[in-house]
Amino acid sequence: MSKLSNDLDLLGDAARARLGQTFGLQIGGKTVETPESYALTDPSTGLEFARAAEARPEDLDAAVAAARKAMDGEWKRLRPHERELRLLRLADLLEQNERELSEIETLCSGRLLSNTAGVDVRYSAHVLRYMAGWATKLEGQTMRLSVPYIPDGELRGFTFREPIGVVGAIVPWNVALGIAVWKIAPALAAGCAIVLKPAPQTPLSALRFAQLAAEAGIPAGVINIVTGSSPRLGEMLVSHPGISMVTFTGSTEIGRRIAVSAAGNFKKCSLELGGKSPVILMEDAEVEVSAQAAAWAILANHGQNCCAGSRLYVHRAIHDQVLERVVDIVAGIELSAPLLPGAQMGPVVTQAQKQRILGFIQAGITEGAALLTGGTAPEHDGCYLRPTVLAGVTSDMTPAREEIFGPVVVVAAFDSEAEALHLANDSRFGLGASVFTQDLGRVHRMTQGLEAGSVWINIHNALDVAMPFGGWKESGMGNDLGESSVLAHTRLKASVHRYG
Ligand code: NAD
Ligand code: MN
Repeated sequence: MSKLSNDLDLLGDAARARLGQTFGLQIGGKTVETPESYALTDPSTGLEFARAAEARPEDLDAAVAAARKAMDGEWKRLRPHERELRLLRLADLLEQNERELSEIETLCSGRLLSNTAGVDVRYSAHVLRYMAGWATKLEGQTMRLSVPYIPDGELRGFTFREPIGVVGAIVPWNVALGIAVWKIAPALAAGCAIVLKPAPQTPLSALRFAQLAAEAGIPAGVINIVTGSSPRLGEMLVSHPGISMVTFTGSTEIGRRIAVSAAGNFKKCSLELGGKSPVILMEDAEVEVSAQAAAWAILANHGQNCCAGSRLYVHRAIHDQVLERVVDIVAGIELSAPLLPGAQMGPVVTQAQKQRILGFIQAGITEGAALLTGGTAPEHDGCYLRPTVLAGVTSDMTPAREEIFGPVVVVAAFDSEAEALHLANDSRFGLGASVFTQDLGRVHRMTQGLEAGSVWINIHNALDVAMPFGGWKESGMGNDLGESSVLAHTRLKASVHRYG
């Protein structure tokens, strides 16, 4: 057994029992089999290990109908505190099933077990608990009114926040269960029901999550999961007349299509899209600490994070020192199967993604960037490639402009704060940005100056559930997490009452 291929004997019983199975949809609390299925492959070997159902248009109709029925029925009758308790119970169940959930996530995606356990399971339990609290905290306003054409009436106004309706969610593979929970938890806290379509590569964790939700007492039909291998299913979900809001996380290209399609019947859209997030090291940054942070900003999750620190800008005074350390750290990373204990970096998600990443690296070299480490793939059937540093990169080069979504960082030097800001903002994306400095005045100026939905100081990619996470510019509209993500799943009703 090569160190690069997952050893399936390492799996616990629950995950091992899935090998060779075909997984149905989860609709209205039932498992629904369909005539067609598609293969799920292990990125560490390229081999099929299970299959998932291809949802048909009638399955999608059934899922939307089940969601509507649940939302207007049992789910609506529960008091807010009951919704809260069930979400809290679901958080406990997630933690109790950590091994199974993290293993199936790793099998589908090739992500490290430490990452899927930490982010998709434990962080998701944390998100559920935070969002559970919002169920009892959705408030309206009251006011005395003065309608000019009703001069003699004593009027009071009330606003109510009501659930927006059935939510259609479409999520990517890079943090599959984690992002599914970012969608499901606020929707349920607000009293909505949901139809979620996982990415084709990673359906198993969401399917299991829906079963755990039933165990937690969440009524059948509140969470429905439809799976499929074709973009058609996502398109049908977005244009479905029974869906009131679309919440999407994925690429900017698909997000743009979704916004256009959703406009057809004025569905509300929340779009969390791609990024090309800069990491800026000022001349007073501590070299070792900030070099480590910069390296892991791109190495974490194999660079498959929307806010991966994929552009590194270093002040010329420390540029050579920092670059040497970053190259050292990146070159020292060992590739191995993601189920292996202590694995540092596993495969990327698919062969197609691997080829795409290698293509971006090649484009950078052709355009004049210096390849300092990586840039190649080991001879293996898994989707491995070596983490890569490209230096001397200018803003017009392809790998500085396009989201690579793999372990590739581009590096450039700058001479002033103004130049750093210009370089950082010279991108169509605006998701995250980080600055490493000890200068308080500079912290304030740069926090104001950076065009990004999240700005981090002396840390990169710190996402807290209480903070809104969303993109500026072509990184999207709306946000996940925080209070505003719950309120986004409500619609306002204004009610006027006459007293005398
Ligand atoms: P993708 O856009 O290729 O696919 C995302 C989802 O959309 C998948 O479920 C896919 O099946 C579905 N889809 C594909 N075509 C569709 C269509 N025409 N209509 C409706 N749905 C369709 O993205 P991906 O490759 O799965 O994920 C990587 C991307 O996600 C990167 O761009 C990354 O930056 C982004 N991302 C953003 C965030 C964020 O919070 N901003 C978080 C994670 C990932
Ligand atoms: Mn894609």
